[in-house]
Amino acid sequence: MPGQGSVEDVMRSLNFAQDVSKQIKEANYQMDRVELKRLLAEMTAAVASSKMELSLLQGVCEARDAELIRLNEALVYRGNLRRRGDGYYKTLDGRPYGQPYCSFCWEHDNKLMHLHSRILSKDVRICPCCKNEYQAIRTPYLEAEGYSV
Ligand SMILES: [Zn+2]
Repeated sequence: MPGQGSVEDVMRSLNFAQDVSKQIKEANYQMDRVELKRLLAEMTAAVASSKMELSLLQGVCEARDAELIRLNEALVYRGNLRRRGDGYYKTLDGRPYGQPYCSFCWEHDNKLMHLHSRILSKDVRICPCCKNEYQAIRTPYLEAEGYSV
């Protein structure tokens, strides 16, 4: 039975394979051919299961690595973001500029999501992630004065 990609799941499958190996050894390699065949099939299945568990575990590790990279980026940006109106903006010399980020996604999940203008509306901006809507007048595009961005 496959697990969810944890070290315990991998160890359970490998321990099972080891137990089968012990049984064969304890019988001093003298076994009924049918029984030996059954045990080897169980061991092969346990090894296959271990491989699958390891593959799941790798997926779990990769997802955590991606989350760590995202959180590190959020940490780097944290000091350089400033709230203005209803959005967050990157700053140059302490002055906010550019396109606004969703304040909900930033404050709730440390996610930087640019707000999009809602189709057929100049007055409403929408976050593509959390779907919160913002007044465009409270989340304007800000020119970076004196800089070319
Ligand atoms: Zn959002």
